[in-house]
Amino acid sequence: MSIRKGVDAIAKRNKEMAERAVRSNIPELFLRNDGDMAIFRLLNDDPLDVDFHEIYDKAISSRPMFPYCTMDDDGRCEYCESDIDLVRMFMFWVWVERILHTTQGDPLWTTVEVGQRTYFEESVQQIHIIKRKFGQRQALWDQFMTAFETTGTWKDRSFAFKRKGAPNDINTTYSLSALDREPIPDHVAKIMGKLPSLEAVAKGMVTDLDIEQVAVERRTQQPRKQAPRKEEKEQDVVVKDEAVVAKDEVEVPKEAVVVPPQDEVSVEAGEGESSGEPKVTVDLPETD
Ligand SMILES: [Zn+2]
Repeated sequence: MSIRKGVDAIAKRNKEMAERAVRSNIPELFLRNDGDMAIFRLLNDDPLDVDFHEIYDKAISSRPMFPYCTMDDDGRCEYCESDIDLVRMFMFWVWVERILHTTQGDPLWTTVEVGQRTYFEESVQQIHIIKRKFGQRQALWDQFMTAFETTGTWKDRSFAFKRKGAPNDINTTYSLSALDREPIPDHVAKIMGKLPSLEAVAKGMVTDLDIEQVAVERRTQQPRKQAPRKEEKEQDVVVKDEAVVAKDEVEVPKEAVVVPPQDEVSVEAGEGESSGEPKVTVDLPETD
């Protein structure tokens, strides 16, 4: 580890490391607006629990960056030494089937009625990572654990993951609902075997999926009914449209007190009802 002397050199080095943290081309799941909902499959039963630093630098990105904390690996970490906020996050590989948006954002999204609500369905059909803070009092993680404890695996079904909170709402929360049990589709299983190590992704050592290979796999699969085929385009949206997705990462600051919405039947709201019903009620269409 070389020595950098002076404030400017340290700032420069911080910037370099932060840039490395955002250079990844591996798409990450973001939900943008209040009520947006992703339907996905979690692909691993060994999620990571990772310490990252959280950096805001508008010159690099409009959303927070999360460079990996090297303290445990190297016994030193430049961000720790600079007193940059440390955040604990969990990470999974996910197969994002579709996202139900509350507002139309792309002419290729199809209109669907779910309950009494109109959504705009984006067929994603791609590997992403999901990387989230554990949540206030680990509220979000508790929902994932509840889902796991029910069956001992996350891999036997899809989940609905729903955002509650407008783009800039610091009280934004998420809810996870288990859907009906369903075997992993073959095309997803094939891709699962080719995924790089999630640890390497967390550390920024792997910044690309073999998207070509994934695309080839996907070409051989059945398109979903009424699903528009727009793989390349969606990839662009996810990776490049930072300004739009940025606000999703404006999560609850650590010091903020979160008051879960009273009208939401949500696991995260129930400190005193941990033995209660594990499923969260979300209006959903019958899965097919
Ligand atoms: Zn650190």
